[in-house]
Amino acid sequence: MRHKKSVMLGAIAALACAHASAQPNDSGRAAFRAIYEEMVEIDSSPTTGSCTKVVRAAETRLKAAGFTAADYQVIIPPDRPDDGNIVARIKAANPTKKGVLMMGHIDVVDARREDWERDPFMLFEENGYFYGRGTADMKGQAAVWLDLMIRLKQEAGFKPPRDLVMALTCGEETSNRINGIDYILKNHKEWFDVAFALNEGAGGLLSDDGKALVMQIQAGEKIHQVFELEVTNPGGHSSRPTPDNAIYQLMAATNKVSAVSFPVQVTPVTREYFRVTGPILGGEIGNAMTAVAKNPEDQAALAVLLADPTYNASLHTTCVATQLDAGHAPNALPQRAKTTLSCRVMQGTTPEQVKDTLEQAIADPNVKVSIVRRRDGSSAPPLTDEIMGPVKSQAAKMWPGVPVAPIMIAGATDGRFLMNAGIPTYGLSGMFSKSGETNAHGLNEKLRVQSLYEGRDFLEAVVRAYVK
Ligand SMILES: [Zn+2]
Repeated sequence: MRHKKSVMLGAIAALACAHASAQPNDSGRAAFRAIYEEMVEIDSSPTTGSCTKVVRAAETRLKAAGFTAADYQVIIPPDRPDDGNIVARIKAANPTKKGVLMMGHIDVVDARREDWERDPFMLFEENGYFYGRGTADMKGQAAVWLDLMIRLKQEAGFKPPRDLVMALTCGEETSNRINGIDYILKNHKEWFDVAFALNEGAGGLLSDDGKALVMQIQAGEKIHQVFELEVTNPGGHSSRPTPDNAIYQLMAATNKVSAVSFPVQVTPVTREYFRVTGPILGGEIGNAMTAVAKNPEDQAALAVLLADPTYNASLHTTCVATQLDAGHAPNALPQRAKTTLSCRVMQGTTPEQVKDTLEQAIADPNVKVSIVRRRDGSSAPPLTDEIMGPVKSQAAKMWPGVPVAPIMIAGATDGRFLMNAGIPTYGLSGMFSKSGETNAHGLNEKLRVQSLYEGRDFLEAVVRAYVK
């Protein structure tokens, strides 16, 4: 079924949402869906879209729900009119502990209409899936946060003992935008005076036949650092080749990097993930997980996991060549040749340590190794009972018998900024999918309808427990 509505109509529907949420059999689902639809249908991609439009739509809804100027702030960095962010707060009258932050990025990866089967900036509900850019990453969760803030604000008797803060921010997906979380930390830190934050980063894994296998909570992530290998040379006429060719030297060095294997580190989070997930997955991979959980030095089992790109990424730092740039004319010896390396670095490993490893492997003084994007390392947040208690008990209610497993992700989220600012940040959504099913960042991104609604119920229960 094709489901289309203009953004304007979506906004009008939003103003009516207070009535929809009063219907007991609906639990406000229709109003929530309208928020989700509106968010997906506002293009917030870096090339053709605007985060600020999403922010203004959210602002309209917050105001309609009773949030006043003291309760929220639209934050637009100077000279960046499309990189808007919004923060809102339900304040505790007499706080007994620091608040809880619900964070979500509202920007999405570019999507071209001609490449997609359907308009990427239209919400389609078909065959049990929502299709559209951002349906999975992460306008679903952002819509959950906004919907929850609105409902709690309107709920008589909701008097939390701690602040509940929501931040919908821009710039997670791209480096050509100002990162909203980073910007707010630097310029409006007062909004982030919280004990911990809830973010994207994990959902739940479904089997091939659609059964819930494991529910995940993200605790920590690798750090993206970019390095460059560079060879320079006086060059000359290509009719007179010399042995010291910048391209050949760079190729040799790049090939040596391809053989580098950084030391394996089975972190406590990964070990726990293997312990819980191994028996569920079974087979060669599952058995190897179980073996490594028992003995992190089990080389045979590690070899099985290192052969799988996903588990390889979670077990050690990786560096991979992603770009090449060399020479300046077809008839000239190259004066410069450059390889870009994208390194995903384990927590606790410094850029200098990675650089040392690369230099030792290359062992050629003609090849200059440099750090072109330095990022500080974040650590893994503690999985305390305060955090895990509500997650486990709600998961047990909704998905009986399905274990909860912590994961460290190989990608990166905005959580790293908060972690570096001393705010433990956890990724969880309760939204299940098969491995790779959502195709986030790719074509025809989608999310199961059931997963979105279950995630909403799950996150609401967990947040209510945290702010009780
Ligand atoms: Zn995301």
